Amino acid sequence: MRFEEVIGQVAAKERLLEAHRSGRVSHAQLLSGPQGSQGLPLALAFAQYLCCARPEASDSCGQCPSCKKYQKMVHPDLHFVFPVVKTPSLKNPVSKDFLPRWREFVLDEPRHTLARWLSKLANENKQGGIFAQEAEEIIKTLNLKTYESEYKVMVVWLPELMNPSAANKLLKVLEEPPPKTLFLLVSQEPEQLLQTILSRVQHTRLPKLDDASLGRALGERHQVGPGQLDYLLRVADGDYVKALEALDSARASSEDFRNFSEWMRMCYGVKVPEVMAWVEEMASIGREGQKQFLLYALRMVRESFALNLAPAHHGQLVHLAQEEMAFAQRFAPFIRGSNVAQIAAELDLAHTHIERNAANKIVLLDLSLKMMRCLKT
Ligand SMILES: [Zn+2]
Repeated sequence: MRFEEVIGQVAAKERLLEAHRSGRVSHAQLLSGPQGSQGLPLALAFAQYLCCARPEASDSCGQCPSCKKYQKMVHPDLHFVFPVVKTPSLKNPVSKDFLPRWREFVLDEPRHTLARWLSKLANENKQGGIFAQEAEEIIKTLNLKTYESEYKVMVVWLPELMNPSAANKLLKVLEEPPPKTLFLLVSQEPEQLLQTILSRVQHTRLPKLDDASLGRALGERHQVGPGQLDYLLRVADGDYVKALEALDSARASSEDFRNFSEWMRMCYGVKVPEVMAWVEEMASIGREGQKQFLLYALRMVRESFALNLAPAHHGQLVHLAQEEMAFAQRFAPFIRGSNVAQIAAELDLAHTHIERNAANKIVLLDLSLKMMRCLKT
């Protein structure tokens, strides 16, 4: 990762570069900031810079053998410690057991949250932690010679999740640091760290991202147009993770909306061949997408019925986006007391069937035929 790829945080980048220029890079650095503030990318960019063979004034070259390995996170002198979970086959897990998944997570997933990382490790809800045996691994790693670069770098993500015995061992290491070893601690809750650890590190606090940097990243990396940008920046409040979540849900519901309004038009017009094609298309989006669509349809039906009952009060009763509201106002007259209960029950039943792995094309076709009848009732 190059500094250039880290969103915003200009002051923190400059501070790290200045420490390097003046030869005052402390052997233990703490980068702390709220979720979505780029702590992990910044730590990686700094480490890459320190080990780069041809560093420029304010960024690594991105081309030398060291940079190439850093960019894939496979440099032999780059080590990681992060929260892990216990599984039936791994009673005493340590970070290196999960390295390939960790690399994928850091490089491909822009949302570096504990919840997303743990969901990548285990299907059920599991408590993640940095367990006692990790400390032994850290000491073993530090005793290795460096392979290729001057510095050995150890990035510790979320050190606040270290159990007390691991934290105490880390403290001992920080008190008597091995030569040419750099610790980069990336924390979201530095107040949870031992005071004695805090007193050993050079602490850089990362603020929330500024709107200009966040806006640029959303435009360049996620193709967000100017029309949507204001809304996302407002919701995100300087948090890249929140911005991406809001973007996801806006995109998903706009896709569901397009799909739902077309489907209702076909059903109302009893356009059987079109409905058959629609079923084929829906079958390809997978069960989770189908379930989400059916829940969306249920919501639209309920909101339309509320609109039908009390058109004058729709401001208070109905929770629809502008585009949805325009559709719902035309659609509402077809959702009446005589059919709303049955329509809702059919959607709900189809949802249950899909959840229980029924043949989804049959469920969706059957549902469409019932909708054709219901809309005329
Ligand atoms: Zn380089």
